[in-house]
Parts: sequence; C-alpha cells; structure tokens
Amino acid sequence: MTDVSAARASLSRSYGAFINNSFQPVKGPVFAATAAATGEHLADIARCGKDQIDAAVASAKTAFPIWRAKTPEERAACLSRLADAIEREAGRLMAIDTLDIGRGLWETGLDHAIAVQQYRYFAAAILTHEGWGRPIADGYLVAKREPYGVCGQIIPWNVPAIMAAFKIAPAIAAGNTVVLKPDEHASLSTLELGKLIAEIFPPGVINIVPGFGEEAGAALTSHPDVAKLAFTGSSEVGRLISAAGAQRLVPVSLELGGKSPNIVFPDIAVADMDAIVDNVTFASMYCNGQSCLAGTRLFLHRDIYDDFMQRLVASMRRIRVADPTNSYPLLGCLVSEKQGRRVQSYIDIGKEQASLATGGGRAEVPGCNAGWFFEPTVFETTNDTRIAQEEIFGPVLSVIRWSDYDRLIHDANDIRYGLAAGIYTNDLASAWDTADRLQAGNVWINNYFNLAPGSPFGGFKESGIGSEFCHETLNMYTHLKAVTVQTRVKPA
Ligand code: NAD
Repeated sequence: MTDVSAARASLSRSYGAFINNSFQPVKGPVFAATAAATGEHLADIARCGKDQIDAAVASAKTAFPIWRAKTPEERAACLSRLADAIEREAGRLMAIDTLDIGRGLWETGLDHAIAVQQYRYFAAAILTHEGWGRPIADGYLVAKREPYGVCGQIIPWNVPAIMAAFKIAPAIAAGNTVVLKPDEHASLSTLELGKLIAEIFPPGVINIVPGFGEEAGAALTSHPDVAKLAFTGSSEVGRLISAAGAQRLVPVSLELGGKSPNIVFPDIAVADMDAIVDNVTFASMYCNGQSCLAGTRLFLHRDIYDDFMQRLVASMRRIRVADPTNSYPLLGCLVSEKQGRRVQSYIDIGKEQASLATGGGRAEVPGCNAGWFFEPTVFETTNDTRIAQEEIFGPVLSVIRWSDYDRLIHDANDIRYGLAAGIYTNDLASAWDTADRLQAGNVWINNYFNLAPGSPFGGFKESGIGSEFCHETLNMYTHLKAVTVQTRVKPA
C-alpha cells in the first residue's frame, strides 16, 4: 500500500543541482514544484543555468576516465544495485510522481517497474556488448567499442522515471558519464534518484541539473565538453537540439512526438471485439494520452465500425476520472495548466471539424481544484483534420473509417510522425504485409504498448533518430574504433 502522505513528507524542502554525488546549496533563483491535481507547493527547485551546467559537466569530465576504466562487470554491478534501490523505494517514488504530475498511482508504479527493468537490462546487455575482429596478413584487426565521454541528456515530464532510465542506463553501462536535465514540470523523482545514486556510483558519474529548457537545457546542449546529446520531447525542441549538435558536430539521438495509427481489420472475431476495444482504450488513454506512443488515430473498418464504436464509447464512459492518489485504475489530471489549455484548444477544434462521439468536457474532481481533468474524448473524423494530424498529448482519440486497404496504408502513413502502430487481425499474412508497409519504429500485432526490454524503441520520420531500450542503444553511446595490429614492422 503506497503511503502518499509519507512520500510527501519525505521530500526535501528544496533541491539544488546534484553534482559530484551531492546536492548543491540553493542560493540563486528557484522554481516551485507543485502538485498537478491540488496545486499544493511540494518543494523549491534551483533554477539552474550555465554555472551549474559548467560545474556538472566538469564533474562528469573528471569522473569519465575513472568510470570508463571500470570493467563492464563493475559497471553492471552498480546498475543492478541502482535497480534494487529503486525497487525498494518504488512506493515512495511513484507517489512523488503521482503528486508531481497528476497520473494515477497504478501508472507511476508501472513507470518505476519499467525503469527497474531498464537498469537491469543494460546491466546484462553490457556484458555481451562485444566488438569484433579478424585475422589480417601478419596481424589482426580489432574493432572495439569506446564510450564518448560526457553525455548531455534532456528528458520530458510525461514518464519521468522511464525517461531517466532510458537515458542513464545505456549511457552509463557503456562507460560514459552523464549530465541529465529533467523537465521543469517533473523534476522531483529524478532529483530523489540522486540520493540513491550517491550511495552506489563514484562521484560525478551521474549528475542531475534541474532548470528550464532555454537556460539549463540550452547551456547543456551547447557545452563544448559534452560529447554526445540525447533528447526526448517535442519535435520542435528536437530540431533545436539537433542544430546544437550539428554546430559542434557531436552525435544526437532524438525520441520525439507521435500520432500513431491503431488499425482494426474486418476479420476480427466478434468474440475478440471487447478485448480489442480494451486495447484501443488503453492505447489512447494510458498516461492520459500524454505518451509519444499513444495510439491516437484509430482506423476502423466499415464492416465492424458501428458495433465497435458502440462498445468503444461504453468503454470510454466506464473510465473513472478521479484524484490520482486513489489507488486503482483511473484517469488523473494533465501535468500542467499549459498542457490543459493545449488539450482544451484541440477539443474545441475537434468540435468544429469533427463529430464528437463521447466526452469533450472537463471533469470535476472534488479536492483537486487545480487539476486539468478531462473526460475521455472520442471524435469521429477523417485523416486530414488537425485533431487527426497533430499530437494533442491528451485523452483525445480520433476515429477514422476505412474500407479500401491501399487507401488505409496511404492514410496511416500520411502524417509527419512514425513512432508506433497497432494492427488487429486474425490474418497473419495481412498483418505481416501491413507491418511491412507502415512507416513506424514499433508495430504491434494484436496488442498495443507491447514493449519487452530489448525491443528497439525509436521513430521514423519526425518521430526521432536512434533506438533506445535495446542492445543497439549501446552502439548509440559508443564510438567504433579500429585497432590494427601488425606482428612485425615491414617496409610500407
Ligand atoms: P518540450 O519539448 O518543450 O520539453 C521537453 C524537454 O526539453 C524539457 O526538459 C525542456 O526543459 C527541454 N527544453 C525545452 N526547450 C529547450 C531548449 N531550447 N534547449 C534545450 N532543452 C529544452 O516539451 P513540452 O513543451 O513540455 O511539451 C510540448 C509538446 O511536446 C507536448 O504537448 C507533446 O506533444 C510533446 N512531448 C512529447 C514527449 C515525448 O515523449 N515524445 C514528451 C513531452 C512532450
């Protein structure tokens, strides 16, 4: 049983940057962490800028040769200990995220379970991250993997525990050191991670610098000693990060937005329809729709359209919108007023451009007056409307009727994003053909959010560059160096 009050009481009154394994005194400007649902002041956080970024990068730079010299087994052991520590503290950390960002405890608990899996996955993966080699005339060629050095990493607010793990685990496993900037709307659980890191890692290996994007974020991306950049967030900011990397010619990996198609074929068995409705509901409403992977464009075949829609509307209306600190499945509130207003504006656009099937209003939740709670909202529309084309990042699903297969494929791909896709059918041949033709980094057949550790996670088109979550990620955090050995010197 998660004790939210105890988690609240465990927070520090203020947080400075976590540099060289200790929290810096808070001297300069601060910003407030407030509970998304109630507006309660939770803590003050240092609004860091160039000075703290300089100090954090210097600390990571000093730690790099020490950390790099550790064997993969030693690095793996530290990551495993961090996973164990998070697991022990998960009840407290998930409650902190629930307060901070307004998502239900069952969701933030899942976040921490996934984060733990990530640290364990990369602790294991690094042991098999091998270079290669071959004999050559009078010698041997070795292709070896080497870490970049200091990695600058910037994460968003939607799933802070998962995002921190996605970034920290592979970078650290591969022998890099890290300066991580959490999002200004969701810094608390990442800063709390610092308390666990200090017990396990050598000083300077992982540094956490809170602050705003244009200040701490920009200082990090332009720092001359940062050798690799990694970012998750909006495509717009992704472009800025990419430009900053291009300016200094350092590699950049990006995990950006999505507007993913979820496709239902007419051959599905009626007996499976409720399970598929359940999947579709989860795909669009998990995380209150604040997930880059969310399946927010539902393509329903005309032969099953009416029956499916009836069940889908009923499924959406069964979702309880409630205080996120309640301990059973529910929809909490959005992260901030800014996000609430953004979602409201899309719902207004939807009401003008499309047909509202259910929802469309804000929900009143007693005791949570500051929260932006919305009813699960479904529009019937076409693929060319703004609500079908733009990432809303809220509990809003666009349903599109389809009948012609080639047109379906065209429409599913007719979008600037390409992160994920779902397919529901009993016909393996058409599932495989569709998976082949969809422009998406993740295609799930007869399931959604089917993310086992090791499954490559990355986008096509404007959804990003690079793959996280998988063995390949270790390549993203390492150079490939060729060392050629000649057994004796010969004239050239
Ligand atoms: P954002 O991209 O502005 O923020 C994400 C992170 O980038 C934060 O840590 C922020 O401080 C940092 N940042 C912002 N400007 C920066 C800059 N100039 N230099 C360096 N770092 C900078 O996202 P947002 O404004 O919070 O959300 C806007 C939209 O982005 C959402 O509505 C959603 O569509 C999308 N989004 C996507 C994801 C995802 O997982 N792909 C996550 C959050 C938001």
